[in-house]
Amino acid sequence: MSTALRPSDLADYRDEALGCTRCPLAGTRTQVVFGSGDPQADLMFVGEAPGFHEDANGVPFVGQAGKLLERLLNGIGLSRPDVYIANVVMCRPPGNRDPHPDEIASCESHLFRQIELIRPELVATLGNFATKLLSGRPTGITRVHGVEQEVTLGGNRVTLYPLFHPAAALYTPSMQRILEQDFARIPQLLGARRSEEVTPPVSQQEPAVGARQAVQLGLF
Ligand code: URA
Repeated sequence: MSTALRPSDLADYRDEALGCTRCPLAGTRTQVVFGSGDPQADLMFVGEAPGFHEDANGVPFVGQAGKLLERLLNGIGLSRPDVYIANVVMCRPPGNRDPHPDEIASCESHLFRQIELIRPELVATLGNFATKLLSGRPTGITRVHGVEQEVTLGGNRVTLYPLFHPAAALYTPSMQRILEQDFARIPQLLGARRSEEVTPPVSQQEPAVGARQAVQLGLF
């Protein structure tokens, strides 16, 4: 049986996830906020959790932080429909508190499944929660923002690119400038991956002389 993904797989998964009751947030949310955007996007953003406006509308990043995210995207020649946007947890924590570890653990397979179905080239994590979850490391965003790393997510190699959260940058101009600078590298990072697909990295290219042959030839 073929394991090829169909465009409807994400829609089917969304229908299933909209009824999720795995964690206590199911009792306080208005609705599940599933990811939104291009199901075949090369670039995916992962935020923290829905806030008031997202909970009311059922779409991630539609409040003030979302407006900044849109401006940042426009600044690099992209707009929302070009990318896919999701969150670490799909339901709003009451009063916009931080998501609890058990809520993140309950929701993480929803996020990984979306990554698996979309197969993005570049995953930009917005803030500490997404960065720590997807890098699997405890290092905070202040130290790792703007530094790309290669990871395996949803069964595929992707470039993980940690960024400050737009909500944190909203009222801190210095952070917003850093966010703009980090954003400016996104086209180059996407381009680098595309050219790697055309030209395999030197380490994966067939050596002119194989190692065993080199030993036989007395080259080392
Ligand atoms: N902040 C987030 O992390 N996600 C949203 O969807 C909105 C604000």
